[in-house]
Amino acid sequence: MSNHPKFTAMASAAIHAAQANMAQNAHLTPVFATSTFTFDSAQQGMDRFKGTEPGYIYSRFGNPTVTVAEELIAALEAFDIFTEDGQPLQLKALLHASGQSAMATLFLSNVVAGDTVLTHYSLYGGTHEFLFDFLPSFGVKAQIVDLHDLALVTSLLQQDPSIKMIHIESPANPSMRCVNIGAICKIAAAYKVKVSVDNTFATPYLQQPFRYGADFVFHSTTKFLNGHGTAIGGVLIGKDLPHMKTKVNKTAKLLGGCANPFDTFLLIQGIKTLELRMKQHCSNALQVAEFLHAHPAVARVNYNGLPVHPDYELSARQMRYPGAVMSFELTAGFDAAVQFIDRLQMCLRAVSVGTVDTLISHPASMTHSGMKKEDREKAGIGDGLIRMSVGLESVEDILADLEQALG
Ligand SMILES: *Cc1c(COP(=O)(O)O)cnc(C)c1O
Repeated sequence: MSNHPKFTAMASAAIHAAQANMAQNAHLTPVFATSTFTFDSAQQGMDRFKGTEPGYIYSRFGNPTVTVAEELIAALEAFDIFTEDGQPLQLKALLHASGQSAMATLFLSNVVAGDTVLTHYSLYGGTHEFLFDFLPSFGVKAQIVDLHDLALVTSLLQQDPSIKMIHIESPANPSMRCVNIGAICKIAAAYKVKVSVDNTFATPYLQQPFRYGADFVFHSTTKFLNGHGTAIGGVLIGKDLPHMKTKVNKTAKLLGGCANPFDTFLLIQGIKTLELRMKQHCSNALQVAEFLHAHPAVARVNYNGLPVHPDYELSARQMRYPGAVMSFELTAGFDAAVQFIDRLQMCLRAVSVGTVDTLISHPASMTHSGMKKEDREKAGIGDGLIRMSVGLESVEDILADLEQALG
């Protein structure tokens, strides 16, 4: 990352911010397929373990291919953000084997028994289950509140000193509800509460939570960052560098969810076209949302880019574009949803989001089936809800497929 010029757009940073010139002047980042690294001497081994000499030791602790992806993602999340004293914001990213693994490191390195995490409805299914079915057995509580109600958040933080973190997913899955990241961070900072943001649906191109004061961001890189659906991965990014390099890094090492260099290579290649892809994803998505909104077979569309969405204005303020994921309900309910999904000819029936293909899934029976039905309903996930990740096919072809499948 040294000596790079100042980039005027994220498109250039995504290609050049962490260019590896590591082996034989290879143009692309080499895949360092090695579990361990050799020492020239016993002393060097000791110094590396002590941290007095930089260098790789063992690939669970760090790998040169993985470092490139970490520096690249940190550069994008920090792109064009300056600290109060005018310095470019410095971030530390830790790449993980999955988004879920990055999320586990986040919570396990920042809360202890007795602490509470505040969050909201309509989280990614795996995050909801981790917070409500897994952390409680370690003495950590999670509590759902309406994070749109800033007065309520303030009074909760005032009354309950056990609250140590607020976790936000914005836009959230699959309601596309957004949370005012800046407003929550301001309240949280007054009570020394840390704020984490799952930025998976937005990517740093659409939204940079650190700009609004977030302490941590995580992504499932499986989605839009990789962009092509070739590998599972996750990343945790933080701005408290000493904390990231000690407690958080140690937690990641001990949990062992390290990224592998082959998948990381695919991720680095995917990130290079992030800006180009996100522009087209978002342009296609807006046209699809407008089509569905106007269609008589569709009862409701949840897309933060439509003026009818409750967070349309908030989303326009904190995001560059509203993203490419949406959900919708058919007027004829569950059976019609199943028929619609079965009639698709080009769009693919699959969970996940953020690939070049348009993907369509059924949250109640798939991604959110691990949640209790009453929690699903409070999160706006009815049995007839369909989720769609709009891909990069020609929008005419996507619309034609939806039109014929809606019947
Ligand atoms: C997919 C996803 C995750 C989990 O990531 P994995 O890579 O599947 O472990 C977390 N949050 C959101 C919003 C996701 O879409």
